[in-house]
Amino acid sequence: MHFFQKYIPRRLDAVRDLSRIYVYNTLTRAVEPFETWTPGLVTMYVCGPTVYDVAHLGHARTYVAFDVIVRFLEYSGYVVKYVRNITDVGHLRETGEDRMLIGAERLRKHPMEVADKYMMEFFSDMDALGVRRPDIQPRASMHIPEIIEAVEKLLDKGYAYKVDGSVYFDVSKASDYGQLSKVKPEDLVKHRIDPDPRKRNPADFALWKEAPPGYPFSWRTPWGVGFPGWHIECSVMSMKYLGERIDIHGGGHDLIFPHHENEIAQSEALTGKKPFVRYWLHTGELTVGGRGMHKSYGNFVTIREALKQYSRDELRIFILSSHYRTPVDYGERMMEQAVENASKIRTLYENLSFLLETAPEKEGDREFVNRVTALKEEFMESMRQDFNTATALASLYEFVKTVNAYLEKHTPSRDDVIKVGAFLGDMCRVLGLLEEGGKTFGHETQLLKLLLDVRRELRRRGIYDLSDRIRAGLAEIGVVVEDAKEGERVRVVR
Ligand code: AMP
Ligand code: ZN
Repeated sequence: MHFFQKYIPRRLDAVRDLSRIYVYNTLTRAVEPFETWTPGLVTMYVCGPTVYDVAHLGHARTYVAFDVIVRFLEYSGYVVKYVRNITDVGHLRETGEDRMLIGAERLRKHPMEVADKYMMEFFSDMDALGVRRPDIQPRASMHIPEIIEAVEKLLDKGYAYKVDGSVYFDVSKASDYGQLSKVKPEDLVKHRIDPDPRKRNPADFALWKEAPPGYPFSWRTPWGVGFPGWHIECSVMSMKYLGERIDIHGGGHDLIFPHHENEIAQSEALTGKKPFVRYWLHTGELTVGGRGMHKSYGNFVTIREALKQYSRDELRIFILSSHYRTPVDYGERMMEQAVENASKIRTLYENLSFLLETAPEKEGDREFVNRVTALKEEFMESMRQDFNTATALASLYEFVKTVNAYLEKHTPSRDDVIKVGAFLGDMCRVLGLLEEGGKTFGHETQLLKLLLDVRRELRRRGIYDLSDRIRAGLAEIGVVVEDAKEGERVRVVR
């Protein structure tokens, strides 16, 4: 797609003011100017999937949102170091069941085989959605020695205590426990996940769990045989790859409590440095037909099922039509709009690609270029305001409308086509659109150009029946040819 970029000097339009991005921080419940620990570098950690089943549209919602955040930060001139983990041990359901074991029973395989299978499938689903791969994708099960070391350190520092072979974090030792979720430990009289009566405080959470005999995956530690609790893996892996203090930590809204609250408690106890994370970003839940996805409701939609029905751009546009913090509901009406909008953007791109080959070298139209520049700027300004893709998309649609209206009446100069194309490229690159199938399209453009050359020659020789046949045939596939004074004007309208 972004071949337009090569026609303009690199980043002339991008003398950027890094301080102008604002983000909503769940920690402070406020919009704050974005500043990083190291100028120009963003360290970012997003909680990855638990790989016990096929990835669903909720994963798509969260990971497309963070993909776009990374893309925009890079567009703004930052270098982003992005880590997203793979949870393959220790994630217990509220009922206390281990998610990996649920997958293992279903497939009748060892949990590590289940993890391998669904991790690879997750990667290919993300690729298919155009979600760029993070720099590092660490697996929890590959970090057991580091996790054991962290638990030992928490025991040494007095933040944790043993109960037989399990180790619990003592929340009464973390003076600002509840800082993220605003949950008070004393309110947690009943702790549903881990109702172990031997805990000192019901809000205490497991750093390590003793494994029952015969448990299929467990590791030996100085205090017994078991497996890690879910929260400790993210503290350990984020600090291992990004350092003790990170700029952005993200995940779905459902992770604020207890997962992220507990991550803060553990990490700050381990390092003594506060805050562990500068900006906490959380995505709104994706529902289907107004309800949380659940197999028993029959509304569980996997990414691969959705991709059979819709293109990646259509799904991305659907997701990005809401601000990342807002809940979204997947349904036919929303998807119809997304399909229509994706098609408008692609059609404009096809028109511009064609015009790039055919537009004349002539004086540009400054007024037109100013108008589209302003719309592109509006798009970027929305992105600077807490990555508001919903209003950014509105500017992109206005951009498409403005350019289409112009092309109906004018043949633009080649320079103007290059400028407009580069703007469209910038916006689409930030949203991760139009990255599919670019090569084939290059071919189509050449063929179209050839047909038009032949048609022109036929007209010159007076063979109108054939030249009209070409025009009618092109109209049928959505390419409108109008003969104007300065030569023919061609528009893709489908
Ligand atoms: P899980 O695979 O359930 O451990 O979730 C991995 C990530 O996807 C977490 O950040 C979740 O918050 C997020 N996630 C899971 N389901 C949804 C959903 N329905 N909507 C938005 N995000 C979700
Ligand atoms: Zn996590």
